[in-house]
Amino acid sequence: MILLKEARQRAENDARMHGYYLHPDPEFLRNLLEGLTRNEDRYGYPSCPCRLASGKFEFDRDILCPCDYRDADLEEFGFCYCALYVRKDVHEGKTSIVPIPERRPMKKQTRAYAKVVETTTEMQPHVPSTESQQPSNIEMKMWYCRQCGYMCFREDPPHVCPICKAKAEIFAEIIITTQVLTPIRQVKE
Ligand code: SF4
Repeated sequence: MILLKEARQRAENDARMHGYYLHPDPEFLRNLLEGLTRNEDRYGYPSCPCRLASGKFEFDRDILCPCDYRDADLEEFGFCYCALYVRKDVHEGKTSIVPIPERRPMKKQTRAYAKVVETTTEMQPHVPSTESQQPSNIEMKMWYCRQCGYMCFREDPPHVCPICKAKAEIFAEIIITTQVLTPIRQVKE
């Protein structure tokens, strides 16, 4: 189990090596680092705390923090998608953090989502083809900042929005539902 202290140290070292800084707000920074440690405990690798991971390394490789998109985002906007890493001007408050487009290709996002659904489906009990099946729903939770439109896949809303600093109460929960087939239990007489 990785500790928050270790995750912080790792991020600080990486930021220093690349001439970056970490988000200046301590509470927000802590929230992101907690997301990273939670993902590392869950998947075995620190996938991005703001994105949906599939749980399969080969599909999530590009969003292991620091992700493949960080440097391009820092160069263009001054901060990464989650705003964990920021440029000096952002750290000093000279450039504001605003919503930025997701650089991760839609194809990879869709593939991750499909894998999550597939994994969840595999966990359903096996039904011999002769038995009946009925459709049931798998739900995935997403949070939407009603103030600035920032969205993230997480169990709980962020304490503070990384973009507009709105509090957790401002976030709206969105449930994405996918249908899978599950067995119909038959009662023997
Ligand atoms: S967007 Fe930032 S926090 Fe997320 S994986 Fe990339 S570098 Fe890490």
